[in-house]
Amino acid sequence: MTSTLPNLQQALSQLIAMPSISSDRLDFDQSNLPVIELLASWFESLGFTISIDQVINTNNKYNMLATLGSGEGGLLLSGHSDTVPYDDQGWLTDPFKLRLIDDKFYGLGSCDMKGFFAFVLQACTAIPRHKLTKPLYILVTADEETTMAGARFFVKQQLVKPEVAIIGEPTELKPVHMHKGHMSHRITVRGKSGHSSDPANGLNAIEVMVEVIQRLQLLRKHLQQNYRNAAFSVQQPTLNLGAIKGGDNANRICQDCYLDIDLRAIPGIADEDLLAWLADALLPICKQHPGSIQMQPLHASSPAFKEAQDSELVVSAQRFSGHCCQAVNYATEAPFIQQLGCQTLVLGPGSIDQAHQANEYLHVDQVEPTLALLHRLITHYCCA
Ligand SMILES: [Zn+2]
Repeated sequence: MTSTLPNLQQALSQLIAMPSISSDRLDFDQSNLPVIELLASWFESLGFTISIDQVINTNNKYNMLATLGSGEGGLLLSGHSDTVPYDDQGWLTDPFKLRLIDDKFYGLGSCDMKGFFAFVLQACTAIPRHKLTKPLYILVTADEETTMAGARFFVKQQLVKPEVAIIGEPTELKPVHMHKGHMSHRITVRGKSGHSSDPANGLNAIEVMVEVIQRLQLLRKHLQQNYRNAAFSVQQPTLNLGAIKGGDNANRICQDCYLDIDLRAIPGIADEDLLAWLADALLPICKQHPGSIQMQPLHASSPAFKEAQDSELVVSAQRFSGHCCQAVNYATEAPFIQQLGCQTLVLGPGSIDQAHQANEYLHVDQVEPTLALLHRLITHYCCA
């Protein structure tokens, strides 16, 4: 059966040709089912057992788990099937047609991160089956670029408990063992409108929001004075005041005002901590103006991620890749996958510099080292 399998370039070409954009905008959002079914057919013909699950609360999105071998532990190779939308103006080639120009494979998802699955498929054709003593899992998730719904759903299912997991996001094959978390909230102040000639007629939402902002700035100062991680280029947690809107006319007391904020925690600060600190910061103003202040998440938060630097996976991945582990500023599915109870790393081909850009590409010089690295990882974790 394996004779029908595509080679690396053919697999990459077929994956790129199948649009699987995820977007908050419904007119851009697409089902990832065609990509899932294509990958399922390939891994099935390699002898993997396939399970495809619809992800709850999504727009027709699916996860796929492919399993080879059985038993405890083993290796999970994980990635997402979706891409970001593309900017039609910026692309010099068709984003859905793989083009090899100047040693670069151009195409939407070439590095972030359909390309990873083409490598995994190729690596799997070379597995010495008779030596496989532990399971090898391939996980393909949905909606990483928007809500991370696929990874959240998979972790809730608790279908497998591998010993280690690799998320193949583009890191130029350097192990990433830490990244920041992300959460964003809208704070709304509801005051009472009235004629501006007499402030006692109402409650001015803008003036209450000024107090909110002052309290948030104090919280930020506290965070920056007490939390620091030298591995990051921005070492402290951040709190950004991103957007504000309120009022409608100079001669009216402002009734409604909202503020959108974003917080990026370093590892060691849990989402629950941040939420409790935010609530504490706003408590005096809430007491002063009961029922006037509300806070709601703009997106589901994703936690900070850290894998211990002395874990077996980090030590081995550093040896196999020839690179020291590092911390990055972008978020991945790693903190969710880690909840399976496995050592987890982000490690894959291509550069994040090309992700989410027009003319996204994967350099040919990634091919041989990626295949060699995957082969070492699979042999190390799944073969006797
Ligand atoms: Zn990605």
